[in-house]
Amino acid sequence: MKYAIATLGSHSALQILKGAKDEGFRTIAICKSDHAFVYRHFGVADEIIEIPSYSDFHKVEDDLIKRNAILIPHASLITYIDLRVIENMKVLYYGNKRILHWESDRDKQRIWLEKAGLNLPKVFKDPSEIDRLVIVKFQGARGGQGYFLARNEREFRRKIGSAKEYIIQEYIVGIPVYIHYFYSVIRSELELMGFDRRYESNVDGIGRIPANMQRDLKVTYTIVGNFPLMLRESLLPEVFRIGQKVVEASKEICSPGIYGPFCLETVVTPDLKFYVFEISARIVAGTNVFMETSPYALIKHGKPMSTGRRIAVEIREAIEQDRLKEILG
Ligand code: AMP
Repeated sequence: MKYAIATLGSHSALQILKGAKDEGFRTIAICKSDHAFVYRHFGVADEIIEIPSYSDFHKVEDDLIKRNAILIPHASLITYIDLRVIENMKVLYYGNKRILHWESDRDKQRIWLEKAGLNLPKVFKDPSEIDRLVIVKFQGARGGQGYFLARNEREFRRKIGSAKEYIIQEYIVGIPVYIHYFYSVIRSELELMGFDRRYESNVDGIGRIPANMQRDLKVTYTIVGNFPLMLRESLLPEVFRIGQKVVEASKEICSPGIYGPFCLETVVTPDLKFYVFEISARIVAGTNVFMETSPYALIKHGKPMSTGRRIAVEIREAIEQDRLKEILG
């Protein structure tokens, strides 16, 4: 029986399903009933399975198995569906499931990135240690909700409220650059898929009002969209180096390591250092700006290649070479 490609209707599903169709796969979108019309509208899914809410996702397992579907994870899947549900599902799954634990826990992420020897923002264990501008984050916060900046302990205490679980991280002043990678198991190669920058509300809107009116505003980092970005070409060697180190370190912490799409979320300082403040161990929504292709992927593949399509190419080549097991988690 032929394989189908399935994903949850959200996040980067349009890109994943379009890419799968381009590579000749049958496609399935699992959608919340009130979102299904969008996927019908764009016609990227050969079949739409509707669920009343995300908590019903596990009920489609048998349907997916019957259709010989390979499930492609993205941030909405791993945010809205309990990790244990994903882990226990028998449906074919693209990627290393065990890496999800490393991604979802900020302390584990840090161990991974430290092992890779990357520049990381300093973390302050106790508010009394704050000696520079810091950003205070919350575990599992969606879209940076509630984050705040502080310059010293007094400011921290004034803003923290009753929150107990937080992370105090050095705030790196520079420009945010999100690096999209793809590690191919089948070709044993790390590919650069592109870069984006985020459009976050309200932090990206604050510059539109006069400084004296900005002072008392609460800054938030709620992601609303993304912009494509091209980097200075002289930075590409470093981009490849840090991506490669992350792949190598992942093999040590969580064999067989990370593969498929992943993203390093960085801030680049004026001395052109990349500070990595987060890693996403699956496709990121920023790749949607290259739903057709990024310039890098176009040069590499000689034809338009989105990250969604790249996943489908990997799966197709794995099937052709009888190596599918190597890329299913
Ligand atoms: P996160 O939830 O870690 O993705 O952070 C949300 C947003 O906060 C990011 O998109 C950045 O704009 C900003 N941010 C997070 N960490 C830092 C940092 N250490 N230095 C500067 N900006 C940061």
